[in-house]
Amino acid sequence: MTEHAVVISGGGPTGLMLAAELTLAGVDVVVVERRTSQDLVGSRAGGLHARSIEVLDQRGIVDRFLAEGRTAQVAGFGGVRLDISDFPSRHNYGLALWQKHFERILGGWVEELGVRVLRGTEVAGLTQDGAGVDVELAGGRPLRAEYLVGCDGSRSPVRRAAGIGFTGVDPTRSWLIAEVELTEEPVDWAARHTAAGINGMSKLDDGRIRVLISEDTLGPATDPTIDDLRAALIDVWGTDYGVHSHGWLSRFTDATRQATAYRAGRVLLAGDAAHVHAPIGGQGLNLGLQDAVNLGWKLAQVVTRTSPEGLLDTYHAERHPVAAHVLRTTLAQSALRGTDDRTKALTESIAEVLAFDEPRRYLGGVMSGLGLRYDLGAGHPLLGRRMPDLDLTTADGPLRVYELLHQARPVLLTFDEPVDVPSSRVRVVEAEYNGIWELPVLGVVDAPTAVLVRPDGYVAWVGTGTREGLPDALSTWFGA
Ligand SMILES: Cc1cc2nc3c(=O)[nH]c(=O)nc-3n(C[C@H](O)[C@H](O)[C@H](O)COP(=O)(O)OP(=O)(O)OC[C@H]3O[C@@H](n4cnc5c(N)ncnc54)[C@H](O)[C@@H]3O)c2cc1C
Repeated sequence: MTEHAVVISGGGPTGLMLAAELTLAGVDVVVVERRTSQDLVGSRAGGLHARSIEVLDQRGIVDRFLAEGRTAQVAGFGGVRLDISDFPSRHNYGLALWQKHFERILGGWVEELGVRVLRGTEVAGLTQDGAGVDVELAGGRPLRAEYLVGCDGSRSPVRRAAGIGFTGVDPTRSWLIAEVELTEEPVDWAARHTAAGINGMSKLDDGRIRVLISEDTLGPATDPTIDDLRAALIDVWGTDYGVHSHGWLSRFTDATRQATAYRAGRVLLAGDAAHVHAPIGGQGLNLGLQDAVNLGWKLAQVVTRTSPEGLLDTYHAERHPVAAHVLRTTLAQSALRGTDDRTKALTESIAEVLAFDEPRRYLGGVMSGLGLRYDLGAGHPLLGRRMPDLDLTTADGPLRVYELLHQARPVLLTFDEPVDVPSSRVRVVEAEYNGIWELPVLGVVDAPTAVLVRPDGYVAWVGTGTREGLPDALSTWFGA
């Protein structure tokens, strides 16, 4: 039996990001991925929201993604575009980039970091004891790990095997989605409205056509066939356009569910394994990425014995409410999709409200992820919020805050007097910054004299002239 500190089941966006975070922290991790090749993913998610772009910037890899995608104002609610271009962020926009490209680029970085990915291998079961987890592989020798993380999607075998509940709202409708070739291309590419909803076709960058069709009723739980797609095309467009060569054909629903616990002993869940919802609002991949960045450094500190196991409970405490909120806004947006007169009136009323600045900023903060605050107690408004990417002057010259986070290590920034931290775990940087401190949604806040920034870019402690609370914050987050 091969032993690893951490085994990750699933090498989608969440699993890959988590593997990278653990590797940056020096933890021995292996990813078990059922797909034989990274290419075998459909276009799926259409892009990233602003906070995810910042997270990639924190690791020094954002330019790879920006180079291949297209920046645009993508945050929206109830059909209203929420322009966040006035938010104080270097990335006050979204990025249109298909998931298959996102995974390829992320996978390239993961490979550079030397992460081992066992492709074409499937996690089939698990048994945990006080010291670790035996991870059963279909047709292979088992693995032994101190911790197993299920990043294996909405049907997560790890979640099921760990006996973690997945509760929420049952699906009411479904969509067919496919990437195909057509013998005759449509003359008119405009979306078609049917009683079931909106249907559309668009050309992908490889020349294939992405088809999205709303189904009249909730489709069966079985995988759809090319004949199902033909019939659906004829229903909407009156022709199947000679559809052939489908690479990806799938059905998704508006099922809205969340894991009742993100941790059961030595088993943790992240990404779609922990939460699913309809794709309206484009949140799923973003949530998974940020789950990974929240969990990575905590799990690393636990397996390196820097912090006690209890640190892992802050993962559930912080990330569960975030996904619960996303599930709620997604359900609300699903409800606003109705075409009856009452729903239309409600949608129009919401659009009127969103024309005002404060509601636009609030929901812009929610949908972009830039307004997120973890509940780390009362205090300065920065506490629990993302650290802004300020331009600092340091002894090493000018530096952006996010450059200091590239190695996923905690940073203590001091703007008044130097401070002695009796630990090499936290990098202390004496910096000068004379600009304003402005946060998305909140606006300008009082300038702190020091801030402790976690590896995920969230502020764990704020100094306002004194060092009161710093020793506690250091030991809470980075070990005694
Ligand atoms: C049509 C559509 C549009 C979407 N649009 C957006 C959008 O615009 N923005 C957005 O943020 N999100 C969007 N999403 C959601 C997004 O695709 C998911 O949230 C995202 O893929 C979740 O990533 P993940 O890594 O958690 O899970 P997944 O991407 O599902 O990856 C799970 C991985 O686990 C592997 N696996 C499963 N079982 C096993 C096993 N037993 N052993 C080993 N490996 C296993 C799978 O092969 C897969 O690679 C959309 C989804 C759909 C369907």
